Amino acid sequence: MAVRKILKLGNPVLRLASEDVSEDEILTRDFKKLLRDMFETMEHAEGVGLAAPQIGILKKLVVVGNDPKHPDHSPEVPKQVIVNPKITPLTSDLEGHWEGCLSVPGMKGYVERPVKIRMEYRDESFKLHDEVIEGYRAIVMQHECDHLFGVLYVDRLKSTQLFGFTEDVNTGGKELD
Ligand code: ZN
Repeated sequence: MAVRKILKLGNPVLRLASEDVSEDEILTRDFKKLLRDMFETMEHAEGVGLAAPQIGILKKLVVVGNDPKHPDHSPEVPKQVIVNPKITPLTSDLEGHWEGCLSVPGMKGYVERPVKIRMEYRDESFKLHDEVIEGYRAIVMQHECDHLFGVLYVDRLKSTQLFGFTEDVNTGGKELD
């Protein structure tokens, strides 16, 4: 396994749209190694989620969930592989969180997103899932899936005044890495 380099804001690759993952591809040894590397990279960086474009792979692939020992561990977000996700908001009710991103290290920004979504996706066996997801997990999924379309949370800030260095912003405790 290997910790991969995480691309940072300003790298043009983060702004590109990713391609679907095929069933043939998902069963290859290379793909299984990529998944292990993504989990290892996310855990090393102490993140809650990592999208493939963040390590320069333009595929619709996300890993989420972290170790119970992680300071930001949330039992609401179990370890999971998300392939080819399609998200549809199910409410116009928005919930605000101070989001962070492994591609924007050391900073936080306040973003409001729909709090209830439908997500159709495939898992690491290419099995199709269709789920209604609410709350914190819905926020994490939307943040990670945005990466697959070249969108970063900084594009969705409620206000540029609600953005800054982690140690200097007053987040009121609602944080998301
Ligand atoms: Zn991110």
